[in-house]
Amino acid sequence: MTHDIDPAAAQRADRAYDDLVALVQHGPRFHGTAGIAAAGDWLEQRLTAVGWPVARQPVTLPGWQPGSVHRVAVQQPIARELPAWPMLWSGSTGGPRRGTVEAVGPQGLWGDSMVWQKFVVRSDDGDVVAYLHARDDGPAAPQPLPSGSDHDVAHLAIGRVDGLQLTEWIADGKPVELEVEADGGPVDAATSDNLIVDVPGTGDGSVLLCAHYDTFFNTVGAYDNGSGTIALLQLAERWATAPPVASVRLVFFTAEEWHLGGSRHFVDSASPDELDALDYVLNVDGLGRGSFVEAFGAPEAFSTAFRGALLQHAAVTRPDLELVTRFPPTTGTDDASFYRAGVPSAFLTFNDLHRLHQPDDEPNRGIAANVAWTVPLVEHLVASLTRPTRAAPPGVL
Ligand SMILES: [Zn+2]
Repeated sequence: MTHDIDPAAAQRADRAYDDLVALVQHGPRFHGTAGIAAAGDWLEQRLTAVGWPVARQPVTLPGWQPGSVHRVAVQQPIARELPAWPMLWSGSTGGPRRGTVEAVGPQGLWGDSMVWQKFVVRSDDGDVVAYLHARDDGPAAPQPLPSGSDHDVAHLAIGRVDGLQLTEWIADGKPVELEVEADGGPVDAATSDNLIVDVPGTGDGSVLLCAHYDTFFNTVGAYDNGSGTIALLQLAERWATAPPVASVRLVFFTAEEWHLGGSRHFVDSASPDELDALDYVLNVDGLGRGSFVEAFGAPEAFSTAFRGALLQHAAVTRPDLELVTRFPPTTGTDDASFYRAGVPSAFLTFNDLHRLHQPDDEPNRGIAANVAWTVPLVEHLVASLTRPTRAAPPGVL
């Protein structure tokens, strides 16, 4: 089957690019900041302009700010600065501190969705000065700390290659000494809103379609997740004139980067009947450059149906797609908040690893093209996926 350039898709991509540029003008959309408030107002304006009233659900979490200093400077065996970011909920070092590095071992993040390498930095008298967290792949990128972490101590994220270098020096028996400084820490409560739009269907069915619109503090997040946000906006605009058969509740979540704070609050606030009324949840998180798609779902029968419907659409529109599925799904995306409550759920991303939580995660034509491809894909999924049988929520094993 040949694949002609679709003028409608090209037009959608141009609009997606312009919308991404408009969205990122509000700066980083870190939960609790003025940037996400301004972006939320912009989204509400766009949605009401096509006739969709927006309901707001405030989400309040213990506040945290990243500070302005985040520095890791190796002094021995070779003097070198390592690019570093404070992990979310990191404490402060209270000025520059020196210490020696010990390898601790693997560190699970977002459950075990990512497994990084952890190091502890100790002063000469044995005090813990800081923890370092070396990424499994790519440059240094901040992530939230697992619950139970010591928030009184600084935690800094470093890149994979720098982590390998530390490990190698330690294995060679060379003392690794460094200076570390970070000034982030807790602040008063942080509040931003989940934005909710109800699109009535022409027939049966009830789907919750979501994307988080917040970002990490160090990025305007065009890929993560301005892209999913704009995909949902385009769907809302299309459905204003051509409604879907199933009713669709569109939710733009805040605080995804704060351990799914927005979606957890939404699920905790919903009644069992409201959750039971949903056929399934579809989460669009990160439509980056390229052709590498991850599509996870649960329970298993729904994962298989989701994969099948996606491949059916891709076969005629996107022969270059590389699709990876994983079961059970990872626990680091907003769909996990729903699956934990027993709601069948699915997650879709074009994984763009090296842009994740980076200052250069800015709008580009590759993201816009994948937004333009995803919009009709989601319409196809909503039209073709039927209510799956509920399975018991994930347990211990
Ligand atoms: Zn994301």
